Amino acid sequence: MKTFTYHRAADIPAVLEALATPGTQLIAGGTEMVNWLKEGIESPARLVDISGLPLTEITTDGVLRIGALARMSDVAAHPAVDSDYPVLRDSLLRAASAQLRNMATIGGNLQQRTRCPYFRSDTLVACNKRAPGSGCSASLGDTSGQAIFGWSESCVATHPSDLAVALAALDAVVVVQGPGGERRISATEFHRLPGDTPEVHTELAPDELIVAVEIPSPAPHSHYLKVRERVSYEFAIVSAAAVVSLDGDTITSARIALGGVAHRPWRLTAAESASTGVSLSDRNALAEAVALSFTDARPLADNGYKVTLAQRTAVRALEEAR
Ligand code: SF4
Repeated sequence: MKTFTYHRAADIPAVLEALATPGTQLIAGGTEMVNWLKEGIESPARLVDISGLPLTEITTDGVLRIGALARMSDVAAHPAVDSDYPVLRDSLLRAASAQLRNMATIGGNLQQRTRCPYFRSDTLVACNKRAPGSGCSASLGDTSGQAIFGWSESCVATHPSDLAVALAALDAVVVVQGPGGERRISATEFHRLPGDTPEVHTELAPDELIVAVEIPSPAPHSHYLKVRERVSYEFAIVSAAAVVSLDGDTITSARIALGGVAHRPWRLTAAESASTGVSLSDRNALAEAVALSFTDARPLADNGYKVTLAQRTAVRALEEAR
């Protein structure tokens, strides 16, 4: 690990001033940044600790606003989240371990980087995300965990955040502050598709700080379903977040997002439209609606199974959202 200096930020202006200096990285809960430091993914000259900033508040004045430094476990246990946003609660409770959730923050969770094993490799291997222009080991190697939507020749990785998937289905907004003031980014588009620049992970500019996440309306009929190799502690192979409005058993509107299939939460917009008027008890009709969003799926050599698995996961999430 390379030597770096450590500072505690007193307020948001001090953070923005620090970010103006190249080589600065921020740390809050530390559950991902320490990984990056150990793995050599980041080697900052200066680490600025933002954990003392007053960004932990959760308010429910019409809009649910969650401060960027609120801990995952605190958000999941908040009475309003527990009762009115089950998709959000369960995306948090099914992520990581209890110890990690007690430390990790909402803003940090959204800035996790891919779990692509080549990106996380102890020894440097070709990886355009880590070393632009070096190539993509995954596309020539094991693609079983990689994307089926939105990938490019440069990178086929997926993003790992469960929270991001729930926020996309909730039509949430990521609120950021930078030198030009406040900016709002759709949660669905906060993570970038790789294109020719996979080394740029999100829409957050290097001189900006996430200050909050806002969710416009409650989602009492919602569900988060995570498929993983072990229930105790694992990243998703595939996940689905479903938010529905109902008239009895019939869907009047739906929002569905998938995790584990792209480098951003993948909204199933065709399925959302087609599922309006469908009964939650009609599994075949739900499956037909969901299938409409998979006509442009592009599975790789080892991950064709994700096409079927993701469709079944989305249908199950809809069924459980009642
Ligand atoms: Fe790197 Fe992306 Fe290729 Fe993984 S898929 S090796 S992160 S370029």
